[in-house]
Amino acid sequence: MKKRAALHNLGCKVNAYETEAMARKLADAGYEIVPFDETADVYIVNTCTVTNMADRKSRQMLHRAKEKNSEAVVVAVGCYVQDAADALREDHSVDLLIGNDNKAAVVEVISEFMDEKEGAKKTEMVGSIAASRSYEELGMADAGEHTRAFMKIQDGCNQFCSYCMIPYVRGRVRSRASREILEEAKHLADLGYREVVLTGIHISSYGLDIEAPGENRQTPFADQAETNTYLLEVIRGIAGIEGIERVRLGSLEPGIMTEEFVRAISEIPEICPQFHLSMQSGCDATLERMKRKYRTREYAEKCALLRKYFDNPALTTDIIVGFPGETDEEFAESYSFTESIRFAHTHVFKYSKRTGTAAAAMKEQVPENIKKVRSGRLLELDRKRQEEYAKSCLDREIEVLWEEEKESPDGRILVGHSREYLEVQAPAGSFEPGSLSVCRIRRANPDGTVTL
Ligand code: SF4
Repeated sequence: MKKRAALHNLGCKVNAYETEAMARKLADAGYEIVPFDETADVYIVNTCTVTNMADRKSRQMLHRAKEKNSEAVVVAVGCYVQDAADALREDHSVDLLIGNDNKAAVVEVISEFMDEKEGAKKTEMVGSIAASRSYEELGMADAGEHTRAFMKIQDGCNQFCSYCMIPYVRGRVRSRASREILEEAKHLADLGYREVVLTGIHISSYGLDIEAPGENRQTPFADQAETNTYLLEVIRGIAGIEGIERVRLGSLEPGIMTEEFVRAISEIPEICPQFHLSMQSGCDATLERMKRKYRTREYAEKCALLRKYFDNPALTTDIIVGFPGETDEEFAESYSFTESIRFAHTHVFKYSKRTGTAAAAMKEQVPENIKKVRSGRLLELDRKRQEEYAKSCLDREIEVLWEEEKESPDGRILVGHSREYLEVQAPAGSFEPGSLSVCRIRRANPDGTVTL
């Protein structure tokens, strides 16, 4: 009888990619992959530790698995394991602990444990992530939705923003070999994916750790210009693969946007003109306490650069409101700077304390009701900007990658996304899901979507 394995993913796109890669390894090893709410012989939870809430959810999913089948092997994997292995060792729901640099061994670790099941004690593979120097290759993941596939190209982060645990659980920057990236992109094209989204923990650092043959670098890491060269090489490589029509870049830092880099990517037709430039605050004093590596003036310059080389690019971002010490004046500064950039979409987060970070220990924590008011104001601004950006695409020719049909208040519709990542709607049957077409937008909807 085939053994049944169920996987649950928590957290970011990188985690989702890794969960797909682990599922693929288990399937290749003969497991039947079943939904997490079904009874299985093995349950795997790829955990997250970005907030205290994420920790709680990770524990909940592990306990739920054991409740589902007390005979099953429950495997805790990833970021929460990397940070809280001691606590998990005492948790009777968990049989195996796998850290962030041992996911490739998931099949072997489980079968070893199963072979010795009787009296087997809890097994763990949780290495010191800070010491990891090479990228852990997980093989192909087929991590995609409809025609868009996510591909992990890098792990780790060297930034140490004051509110973030990620560098402590994901380790230093480690870049995936461009050969592996191109091989997976080719595989995705063969599977019919037309768009590849490059993702990682900090893709702006891709190449930072790569040392060219014979290069005897003084410091362990390259400078930004050199780093950009490696990322450009990967982007050009993927763009050159037959069948790949679009290359979309995941979350980026302003520092990567040098004039050379922006000009170079603007000359690659497959590059999607949607750039998620993580900002976090529009106030320099707050950015300083966040230990972010740029200030608002530089940020505005990078946005202007993207608008110089791309026609009406969609600039999107993340903003944290209620960061410790954020006064009304600081928030007002952040708000008016955000207003001035005219983002196509802003993801608004209320600051959430993460024990163990410098920010969690900061004195002036902002009350929840204040955070609520501030996020409400930014969400209102975002709603206006989304509609404004949708309107700026009216009567323009835009290319749409059609994805799926679904029911809507207006009946059955076909949905797709433009290169700017605008959601485009058309009557069902207008085009084939998976096909690309150039269309003219007729209507912008209040929710930021557009209709042919
Ligand atoms: S850049 Fe900052 S927020 Fe992003 S993963 Fe690195 S430390 Fe965390």
